[in-house]
Amino acid sequence: MSHFSQPPVVRYRGPMVDGHMHVRTAAETRLFAEMAAGYGVRTFLGNGDLGFIADCRRAFPGRFYGLVRLRYDLIGDGAAFGRCATDLIERAVAEEDVRGVKFWFKPAFNADTGLFWDDPRLDPVFDLMGRRRLVALVHIADPDAWWRHAYCDTARYGTKAATYRQLVNRLRRHPDVQVQAAHLGGDPEHLDHLDRLLDEHPNLWFDLSATKWMARELSRQADAARDFILRRADRLVWGSDLVVGRRPDMTFDDYATRYYVHRHLWEGRGPLPSPISDEDAEQEPVIVQGLDLPMDVLEQLYRLNAEHLYGICAAE
Ligand SMILES: [Zn+2]
Repeated sequence: MSHFSQPPVVRYRGPMVDGHMHVRTAAETRLFAEMAAGYGVRTFLGNGDLGFIADCRRAFPGRFYGLVRLRYDLIGDGAAFGRCATDLIERAVAEEDVRGVKFWFKPAFNADTGLFWDDPRLDPVFDLMGRRRLVALVHIADPDAWWRHAYCDTARYGTKAATYRQLVNRLRRHPDVQVQAAHLGGDPEHLDHLDRLLDEHPNLWFDLSATKWMARELSRQADAARDFILRRADRLVWGSDLVVGRRPDMTFDDYATRYYVHRHLWEGRGPLPSPISDEDAEQEPVIVQGLDLPMDVLEQLYRLNAEHLYGICAAE
């Protein structure tokens, strides 16, 4: 049995919802779901293509709620894109009861496509999402460190601060759409920025997904991170960002080490050397500082906020 098949610390014993993960075929998703059950996680907000969402809903009844991913190859013809995207969303709601739409608007995507999240060609999508009460899960920005290697060409990628314009404009234009900005809004390095965003936009939520990024940045400023989470516990959703089948040879431990680190980070106390190698770390292993969150806050992050935001009920 793997050393990582059980959490390193179990204070919270209730049902858990993984509020951000990526589905593929049911056959590929099975190993992940088995691992998750050992951690008490039996409900998933899974993003991916509608076919993958459908497959997982058949294979794991009552466990997977979908966030459908759009295609942008028609964006050059705004009207055709709008029709195609809204048709897909309507079908996803009717056939698979999806709860949201996933958007991946990181700097590389912005630069490659010229498309930003506040582009008016996306307005019909958000109008429909407001009517259908669908959540927008969006990835904006990337770790600060990436502007030192991947995004050095700021003429092409812009600054990290500038990439938030698209988020803020969209939040303002569609106050009726709830937005879950992934990975602490893409800015766990700057908790003061996150506070401002939450203050200014009542329709904004953050998820705590992306294991290496969260472990690295929150451990570096553990006291401030703990204060932030206590202060903002009603606007945060836990998730892993695990990508089923990221590689064809994914092992049990590839999945389990992520959950292992998460459980220590939120529930544990003191330092734990991370079993995951992190190319963005200044020093390895990353020392994960347990934030020792109180039980009522853990329940909000692990379960209640996702239930409220998505209108779902966590499976026991
Ligand atoms: Zn993701």
